[in-house]
Amino acid sequence: MFQKPGSLSKAAFGVKFDGQQQQQHHGTAAAAAEPAAKRPKNGLPVESVRRELLYLVESHATVVVVGETGCGKTTQIPRFLHEAGWTADGYQVVCTQPRRVAAVSIAQRVADEMGVAVGTTVGYGVRFEDASNQATTRIKYVTDGLLLREMMDDPLLTKYSVIMVDEAHERSLATDTLLGLLKKVQRRRPDLRLVISSATLEVDRLVAFFDSSTVRGKAAAAAAAGGGGAPSRTPAVVSIPGRVYPVQHGARQSSSSSGSSSGRRWRGATGTAVVSIPGRVYPVQVHYLLDNCSDYVQAAVQTVVDIHREDVPGDVLVFLTGQEEVESAVRMLDEEARRLARSRLQYKLMAAPMYAGLPGAQQRLALEPAARGVRKVVVATNIAETSLTIEGIVYVVDCCFVKQRAYNPIVGLESLLVAPTSKASCMQRAGRAGRVRPGHAFRLCTEESWQQLLPKASVPEMQRSDLAGLLLQLKALGIDNIMRFDWLAPPPAEAAVRGLELLHALGALDGDAKLTPSTGTLLAELPLEPQLGAALLAAATRFGCCQELLTLAGMLSVPAVWASPAAVGGKRALEEAKAKFAAAEGDLVAFLNVHRAWLEHGKSHRWSSRNGIHQHGMLRAAEVSQQLCRKLKRMGLDTNSSCEGDVDKVLKAVTAGLFMNAAQFDHTEYDPRASSDAGSNVYRLLRHMQPGRPLKLRIHASSVLARTRPQLLLFLRCQQNDEGWYEMQAVTAVEPDWLTELAPGVFQKL
Ligand code: ADP
Ligand code: MG
Repeated sequence: MFQKPGSLSKAAFGVKFDGQQQQQHHGTAAAAAEPAAKRPKNGLPVESVRRELLYLVESHATVVVVGETGCGKTTQIPRFLHEAGWTADGYQVVCTQPRRVAAVSIAQRVADEMGVAVGTTVGYGVRFEDASNQATTRIKYVTDGLLLREMMDDPLLTKYSVIMVDEAHERSLATDTLLGLLKKVQRRRPDLRLVISSATLEVDRLVAFFDSSTVRGKAAAAAAAGGGGAPSRTPAVVSIPGRVYPVQHGARQSSSSSGSSSGRRWRGATGTAVVSIPGRVYPVQVHYLLDNCSDYVQAAVQTVVDIHREDVPGDVLVFLTGQEEVESAVRMLDEEARRLARSRLQYKLMAAPMYAGLPGAQQRLALEPAARGVRKVVVATNIAETSLTIEGIVYVVDCCFVKQRAYNPIVGLESLLVAPTSKASCMQRAGRAGRVRPGHAFRLCTEESWQQLLPKASVPEMQRSDLAGLLLQLKALGIDNIMRFDWLAPPPAEAAVRGLELLHALGALDGDAKLTPSTGTLLAELPLEPQLGAALLAAATRFGCCQELLTLAGMLSVPAVWASPAAVGGKRALEEAKAKFAAAEGDLVAFLNVHRAWLEHGKSHRWSSRNGIHQHGMLRAAEVSQQLCRKLKRMGLDTNSSCEGDVDKVLKAVTAGLFMNAAQFDHTEYDPRASSDAGSNVYRLLRHMQPGRPLKLRIHASSVLARTRPQLLLFLRCQQNDEGWYEMQAVTAVEPDWLTELAPGVFQKL
């Protein structure tokens, strides 16, 4: 960790920032490139490569597109393809995003630009939410995970003529997997085109990956042979190119005349082409702290205030790691804004949060331009790094940390962890400041710390995730040997083994690692983590409490059910609100209590806001439950059963899914004098009790069990704090006998 106590004032940044003179801490972030001089007609750089791009898509199976964030890749390329005829004959163009919030808000933006309503010509699809229409939607934005799911019903993705995999450089778990699968699909579908957008960093790897097969040769041969060997679902090979494209001619000409001066290039016709979009970025001056700070949220707020006091125009984008930090910074900034309103500055300060679980209407506040005379400060998580473009940003304040998945392959435990981000990601973040005019980026650490402690690039998600869910889906797609799968970079063998172990313990795989028809196939179809899915199946098939588990699965699949402390007037108020629903059994029964009371009060928004409940979260959770219910019905399961208040049934069903996450209270570590300190209440992962250096677990402060010490509990998720504690969330107390009864392969009576 690079925080050490220190204080921040304006002078604490090695430079005073009042213009262009000081280049003292100039970073490599965004080099000067051609400024706005050569502005194409809609103002977006991507417009200048439109014709080349369309030509290349027509003549190559795969086109890799490189360009600065904000140059128009995501919003414009699908539209170009649509206008050029790729959506004729009922086909769709689909564009994947690693983040749900990006898919939704970009679809909204593109629909606005095209003057249509979302869900008509332009639509989106994310887990549990479909705003598209097979008959009318031509351009669709989806999460990478959703497209992966669509492959289970339609392995060749026959609806789509072009699949654009956006943000491939992010190396998300689902995007990496999709790339491997799409490469296979290409062999069966010569008509399919891939467009892959990436930051410069990963281009060579992507090109090498797609060029390492004889895609076109094989595809052409297969087509000539009448598609022999193709599964029955394969349609007749459709040859789209060569007829409808008015751009083709012009594009060919420009291809021969494309000079290096334009900044474009593409590789030969081996199957993969690269287009780089000429950039339009301004220099960004990077500033570091002179001393590291102990609290980056506070430091970020102070930096924003300092920027604001300079009283020159320009919006600010602050990067923090999670919703709680974002909300607390926004609260602090609101206070500062009230104080600053009395001073004679020309601008008013307005803070707007931006994070994944934020309701759409509030997201718009961050995305839309501020009113005149207002300085907008968008306080965001990592989602504003590349997926979303926020207009008008001149200052970036970067905490240099990120919240990400971490995986401990020894015990097979995934957690969320706040860790220093990578240099590449800091550069991306800084780049956000150079879109309108020369900008400034403030990194909340010393230059020395930045150089020494930050890794060069981020580790792909595949290397730091629980793979069970992914393996289950691949098995369902017929990919049995995942180590032989054509990965962009293979997952660690150890993690794969742990994933298979879990699936086996859940009964999803048999002794030969094949999907079991009773559990495995059903589980693969449920859009839930395997453990939660297994609990739901157990509730429906064994314990007669399907209704309750459907409710829980919904509530556990949305970002928040409790209101944020800010919304109810502080942490204490929230705790008091939670206490009304608390149950000795833990968070899951408390959730059921919340749900029952919410129904009794007619799902009233007023009631929710008075009782510390996140109304939007509840509504979404109800929607998710309904979808899961429909899914179970389609599988032929009875969904009507209810435990009628017998919570043991519910807890048993939960145990049948979550048994691997059983933790036992560790008496040896318990110090009664320190009972108020949650840190003394150590839990150990039950299936990892061997000596050595076991993990230290404790109950997360958000749990209704935070102040208690049940002997044995199960948790759904956990988060690592910076002292190395694994903090368990969605915690529920269970009986030891249930473990031996429901997971005899894993736990035996002593
Ligand atoms: P890229 O994918 O290359 O990073 P985008 O296609 O997302 O770029 O964005 C292109 C441009 O469209 C941005 O520079 C911005 O001007 C505008 N834009 C995109 N989304 C929004 C939005 N939600 N609100 C306002 N402007 C937007
Ligand atoms: Mg984009």
